[in-house]
Amino acid sequence: MPREHHPDGYLKHQRDSIGKRDPSERAEDYSEIWKPDWDPEHLKDQGERCVDCGVPTCMSGCPIGNRIPEWNDLVHKEDWKEALEQLHATNNFPEFTGYTCPAPCEDACVLSYNDDPVTIKSIERAIVDKGWKEGWIKPEPPAERTDHSVAIIGSGPAGLAAAQQLNRAGHHVTVYERDDEIGGLMMYGIPDFKFAKKRVEQRVDQLRKEGISFETNAEVGADVSAEQLREQYDASCLAIGAQKHRELPVPGTDLDGVMPAMDFLPQENRRQNGKAVDHGVTAGGKNVVVVGGGSTGSDCVATSHRQGAKQVVQIGINEKPPSERPDHNPWPEAAQVYKKTYAQEEGAAEEFAINTTELADLDGDGHVDELRAEKVNWTYENGNRVDKTVVDDNFCIPADLVLIAIGFTGPESNPFGSLGVQIADDGTFATDDRLMTDAEGVFAAGDARMGASLVVWAIGEGRDAARHIDRYLMGESKLPASLQTQNEPLAFK
Ligand SMILES: Cc1cc2nc3c(=O)[nH]c(=O)nc-3n(C[C@H](O)[C@H](O)[C@H](O)COP(=O)(O)OP(=O)(O)OC[C@H]3O[C@@H](n4cnc5c(N)ncnc54)[C@H](O)[C@@H]3O)c2cc1C
Ligand code: SF4
Repeated sequence: MPREHHPDGYLKHQRDSIGKRDPSERAEDYSEIWKPDWDPEHLKDQGERCVDCGVPTCMSGCPIGNRIPEWNDLVHKEDWKEALEQLHATNNFPEFTGYTCPAPCEDACVLSYNDDPVTIKSIERAIVDKGWKEGWIKPEPPAERTDHSVAIIGSGPAGLAAAQQLNRAGHHVTVYERDDEIGGLMMYGIPDFKFAKKRVEQRVDQLRKEGISFETNAEVGADVSAEQLREQYDASCLAIGAQKHRELPVPGTDLDGVMPAMDFLPQENRRQNGKAVDHGVTAGGKNVVVVGGGSTGSDCVATSHRQGAKQVVQIGINEKPPSERPDHNPWPEAAQVYKKTYAQEEGAAEEFAINTTELADLDGDGHVDELRAEKVNWTYENGNRVDKTVVDDNFCIPADLVLIAIGFTGPESNPFGSLGVQIADDGTFATDDRLMTDAEGVFAAGDARMGASLVVWAIGEGRDAARHIDRYLMGESKLPASLQTQNEPLAFK
């Protein structure tokens, strides 16, 4: 059925996304911050806002080229089942993105040039919510099997997308995961209140029923060797993420009460899911300082609030972004403007242009008491900080817990180093344009290959790696091309 044009839909209906729960209510619990329910009539109207502009810039804004105008129209026509088909054509796990994606597609929507963009992310979420609710999402095992076997190392969105694609191409797929649960950062990292873990479990259940094998508590390089995997499998894919944290280069980071974000956040995921924790440190009753103005920092802020912190201050090294797009950041690029984060909506204090100089132990008991910093004005060139003027060299905040969330530098290990896998200058796995590393038959995908980025990019990378692996094994591949856009991966901090 051809797409309908609805040239005046955006004049009839204002943008109205599904949205979040009330900040004061949601900050009291660990349930998802998103409103749990939505009305199909509402989404139908929101779908009508899509003007079917001819050159769908939203699709090139989406790193996996989701067929956005297609499903906007189908939702408007109430053909939800076909909308789900179209969504799954480019995205293995639309609920991963429908709940967590920062939606660069909406920045690229034609309407956002001088109006409010279509609520693309809400429509994506609604389609996949309905798919699960109606029982339309079922295991799709392959009709035929090949004789080939593939090992996927790492079970984040990249590994899982690669596994599902390769399994659907008929190969025997086993996923190795060092944690006790499948899901990567979707399971241990992203807080439960941003993404409920039942959503990972229902996909893993689907993947198991499609015939994929999972080995948990299996760290490649420790519990399983690269040589074993080479012996056992015809190809493998390194999708181990980029969770090596960037160090804060100041004195005092070895004090008690100072820890990287990823020593903190997964512990709360474990608690929420009834698992034993590695340590009992929480923010309860403490003065918390979160160093890092990015999304990981926001997740630390929101988790600290829920744990009952006395005070939470988030500090960022950069100046506050402008409220309007600067000249060097035109539409349809992802907008580098100030947006209040969900954590800030819940009431955290936020400081910009703070350059931390020391973490201090005032009473000599080995525990952090204070964060010292200078407040600065930066000079930027091409978006990079090149020079600073200090405006206050005595900026101090009381701190009983300092959470460091200033980004990631690459994969934590090179489990296939003995087979010749090389690390590139940027700390990620070096690959050729087939995503193959220097070791024959060893591919890499996701954050491990491109650096810490977004869930949507990881899914796209997994899909592309699967296509290259299938071609490597079979000489050709019918798996679809994925990363059809020229967008650079968005760096994730
Ligand atoms: C706190 C936090 C919040 C985030 N929030 C968002 C968000 O809201 N939206 C968004 O789009 N992106 C978000 N991101 C980024 C997003 O989660 C990542 O880009 C994405 O998960 C990367 O997927 P991946 O599959 O490449 O790696 P990962 O998800 O990191 O998965 C890698 C997996 O490999 C496993 N592994 C590592 N080494 C080995 C080994 N030797 N053997 C076996 N297994 C191994 C790890 O245990 C892990 O499970 C967030 C990141 C963080 C840290
Ligand atoms: S995956 Fe992200 S960028 Fe793509 S359509 Fe969904 S919300 Fe938009």
